Amino acid sequence: MPDTPQSPASAAPSAERSRTAEEPRAACVLCQEPSEYPESHRGITLCPRCAWLEGQRTACSG
Ligand SMILES: [Zn+2]
Repeated sequence: MPDTPQSPASAAPSAERSRTAEEPRAACVLCQEPSEYPESHRGITLCPRCAWLEGQRTACSG
């Protein structure tokens, strides 16, 4: 029988804290993927991929 230390008292609270610490991300307006902006962000929120595509689109229009 392996001698593994257990600490059930500290395991649950830490998992709960890590979940709440993560700020919810706003959904991308184009593909609904979680963007890099927080939900409190005002205006259009784009995920990195769509932001890159928008950049490519505007870059080619000039
Ligand atoms: Zn997107």
